[in-house]
Parts: sequence; C-alpha cells; structure tokens
Amino acid sequence: MWTNGKPPFPYYYDKNTRSVLVDETKRPIYRAIVEKYINGTNLGHIAIWLTDNKIPTPYNIKPDGKNKGWSNITVQRLLASEIHLGYITYGKTRSKRGQVELVPEEERIKVMGTHEKLKTPEEHEVIMERLLKNRMLNPNSRRNIFPLSGLLYCEKCGSRMRFRVGENKKQGQHWSALCYHQYKDGSKCE
Ligand SMILES: [Zn+2]
Repeated sequence: MWTNGKPPFPYYYDKNTRSVLVDETKRPIYRAIVEKYINGTNLGHIAIWLTDNKIPTPYNIKPDGKNKGWSNITVQRLLASEIHLGYITYGKTRSKRGQVELVPEEERIKVMGTHEKLKTPEEHEVIMERLLKNRMLNPNSRRNIFPLSGLLYCEKCGSRMRFRVGENKKQGQHWSALCYHQYKDGSKCE
C-alpha cells in the first residue's frame, strides 16, 4: 500500500481505489524525458524543454507559490527514481532527538509495489550509468550541493562544518551545519 504521500510525476494517488495511477496527460512527457536522456540530451536541455513547454514542475514550488521551472536536479531526481521501476521505499525519514531527518538510501526498505512500471530495468541502468559518469566529470556538483558548503568552520575547534538535510512539519525541508570533529581523547566537539 502507498504510504509515501504525493507520488512522483507522472503518477497520482487515487483516493477511491487507494492506489497509485498514471496521469495520462503526463505519461508521454515522462516517457519523452527518459528517451531524451537515454538518447543523449543532457539534464539542462531537458529542463529547458520542459519549462518552455510549460509543464508544471513536480517539486520546488516555493512557499510563495512561485514556480521557478524545472531544474537539472529536478530532472535528475525524476530520472533516478526507482518508483518508476515499480518499487516503493519505506522508512525515508526517522526521528532523531525530536528532529525528523532523512534516512540514508541503503537503510531504507524497498519492496515491489502494485503500481504501473514506466521504465524498464535496462533503461534505468543506462540512465544511472550516464548520471554517474556526469557526476565524475563534475566532482564539485555534489560537494557544493549546499550554498555554504566548504565555507563554514566551527567556532569552537575550527573544523569544516558538515551539512545535513532534515525535514519537519514546521520548517519543511531544511539543512543545518554541524561539527563532527573528534578530539584526540575521543570526545566529540558537537
Ligand atoms: Zn567543532
């Protein structure tokens, strides 16, 4: 059973049948994204194509209601999703010291769902290979994922701060900078 909230583009949750269905108006757009990427169109060009064609974005709608269009990251997240392979993941978030945080992918539970599959394992493999290759060509794209990555240092010990993404009802998705430095005696800076 689907318990993950709003399913990704081009799926929607049908309350009556309590199942995840494909929005037929969005289906050809999703397939075009997959085929374009497999055939060599890069993430940026796909994002521009989607924005130019006024396709509503599945994510990154700002709290002020402004929709900034598709970004490379949005396209990448959509292409890499395993939901379109038929999988459902559970345990994406957990509560730690009263804060909800994202659980690392390898610690989540993955099962085959009952919703329609929209890409083949072969297509997914080609997509992931290309995404990985791009990441290796752009080593900074991941390291500098946050606006202040590499720029914040701990006031107490001077170590570089690390960033963590969290999610809670009040703030929505947010990030925090933390010091993970460990002193020689084993104690942590915190
Ligand atoms: Zn520190």
